[in-house]
Amino acid sequence: MDYFPVFLDLKKRRCLLVGGGDVATRKGRMLAKAGAILRVVAPEISSELRELVAQQHGELFAREYTREDMDDCVLAVAATDIEHLNKIVSDDAKQKNIPVNVVDTPALCTYITPAVIDRSPLMIAISSGGETPVLARLVRTQMETVIPASYGKLAQVASQWRDRIKARFNDGDSRRKFWEKILQGPAAELMMNGQEDAANQLISDELASDQSGLTQGEVYLVGGGPGDPELLTLRALRLMQQADVVLYDRLVSAGVMELVRRDAERIYVGKRRNEHAMEQENINQLLVDLAKQGKRVLRLKGGDPFIFGRGGEEIELLAQNNIPFQVVPGITAASGCAAYAGIPLTHRDYAQSVRFVTGHLKSDDTNLSWPELANPSQTLVFYMGLVGLREICASLVAHGRSATTPVALIEKGTTQDQRVLISDLNSIADVVAANDVHAPTLFIVGEVVKLHDSLKWFKAK
Ligand code: SAH
Repeated sequence: MDYFPVFLDLKKRRCLLVGGGDVATRKGRMLAKAGAILRVVAPEISSELRELVAQQHGELFAREYTREDMDDCVLAVAATDIEHLNKIVSDDAKQKNIPVNVVDTPALCTYITPAVIDRSPLMIAISSGGETPVLARLVRTQMETVIPASYGKLAQVASQWRDRIKARFNDGDSRRKFWEKILQGPAAELMMNGQEDAANQLISDELASDQSGLTQGEVYLVGGGPGDPELLTLRALRLMQQADVVLYDRLVSAGVMELVRRDAERIYVGKRRNEHAMEQENINQLLVDLAKQGKRVLRLKGGDPFIFGRGGEEIELLAQNNIPFQVVPGITAASGCAAYAGIPLTHRDYAQSVRFVTGHLKSDDTNLSWPELANPSQTLVFYMGLVGLREICASLVAHGRSATTPVALIEKGTTQDQRVLISDLNSIADVVAANDVHAPTLFIVGEVVKLHDSLKWFKAK
């Protein structure tokens, strides 16, 4: 270990910053964020730095550095491009035993600054020992994506419980177990969602009971997007990683399932057309039963759970049973397929609105208003439209939409098997019949389809 990592408390402590340019400003910003009082010395000082100093009631000396500037300071930073000056600042600081950092010159430093992920009070500092700062920043970028922004909030609320939890559990082991359950369970989710009162109530109930852990289960209704795992939201990914059991159906891609926690139990609930592995009512009940056993249940659905996903029905029963749940939106097939096929769903010149329509015409409760759908300045996106395709096209034409309206049928959109068939209302059914097309497919109708030729970018394998 070349360096010893520490976090310094600089609140109301004086810090010397020699330099007034961009780099010095960046350093000044961080120091000010940590509550330091800045003493800035440089012949020329940027306006942002001046402003920072004013806010912090610090000192500004628009002149050359002198040795006395170091007096009363607990930390020194040299951020000038004058090498010999940087060296003088470094030497002076070392003589006075003041930690000193010279930007980009590890040899002159007695401390170096890390790349930082700030979720205060949670802080993550990453260092490459001053050797490869760009690498440290790359690592930071990767970590930024896996550490939820809401962890700061979590740490804040949790810290308020520290003393009470300590008083309740006197051996370290059960205390640690209790914390682990809190930080991974429904109370943590409530904290991160800003529902502080509900979270506090839950922790307080639990502390009052004799058990050393939470038994309350919960359900995450999560949109898994149209197929490409990179289209998952950060929250979806986080919940997928902490679930005990996952209920998934056919639309959830293999790539997305790969990202579910390895040791989570997996339950396939089907939903192939006319071949339901499990009836909707049974799925709803299973979610309730599993949560009542204290499990963290992930209900993973294709696309967005609230768009032709029956998500509403699934959470209704949860709400009736007072089971905590949250709903995480996903990229719906229309957005995913349209983007990956280069078809903007709206366009100033071609379409002023877009409608998502069920193409499942045989269902008793489907009652489409064809005259409305015939309006030429709107884009139509049909979900579940493959079986009824011929009928959909015929109805649109019969109600006045032009038979030459361009259309796209997108098969397995956003995946490596994506295929886009372009045609018009008149001929698409024949094109599909000739091409051995398989579900899932999305059917887009409207002038915007014309743009596909010039805007397509995604190539499936
Ligand atoms: N909740 C989902 C839709 C469920 S309905 C969502 O928001 O996307 C199922 C229909 O979605 C399928 O019949 C198909 O029309 C469409 N669909 C879902 N994923 C698709 C994909 N990768 N490519 C094409 N269509 C898809």
